[in-house]
Amino acid sequence: MQKTLSAGDPVEARCTKCRKITNHIVIAMAETVPAKVECNVCSGQHKYRPPAAAKKPAVRRTVSQKTSAKQEWEALRPKMDSDKAKDYSMEGSYKVNSLVNHPLFGLGVVQRNVGSQKMEVLFEIGLKTMRCK
Ligand SMILES: [Zn+2]
Repeated sequence: MQKTLSAGDPVEARCTKCRKITNHIVIAMAETVPAKVECNVCSGQHKYRPPAAAKKPAVRRTVSQKTSAKQEWEALRPKMDSDKAKDYSMEGSYKVNSLVNHPLFGLGVVQRNVGSQKMEVLFEIGLKTMRCK
C-alpha cells in the first residue's frame, strides 16, 4: 500500500540534472502527488517527475491457443492407435473422435463437425479446420 505523501517526505523521482531516478524530498504537494521536490543528490529543486513506470512483464498470462491445443494433443497421443488412422482426404467422411493421418500435420483427432463439409481436427501443431464430406 502506498501511503499519502506530505511535504518533507522522501520520494523517488526523476532528476533531470542527475539524469536518473534519485531520492528526493517533497517540498510541496498538489493534492495526492508531489508538486515540487528537492533532489538529495544535487540539491536541485524541480517539478516532481514520477520514476518511469515499471516495465510490464514480457510473459503473457494467457496461454496461447496453440500451446493448449498441443498439450491436449499430447494428452490424447497415448490413446491414438495410428493403425486405425485414416489417411486424410477432402473426399473422406469422418466421425468425431476418429483418427486421421495427414501428410503434413501427422496424426489428428476429429473434434467436431463445423458447418457443411468442414471439421475441426486436433493436430500436434494445433486445431485445424479441414474439408471433409
Ligand atoms: Zn539531482
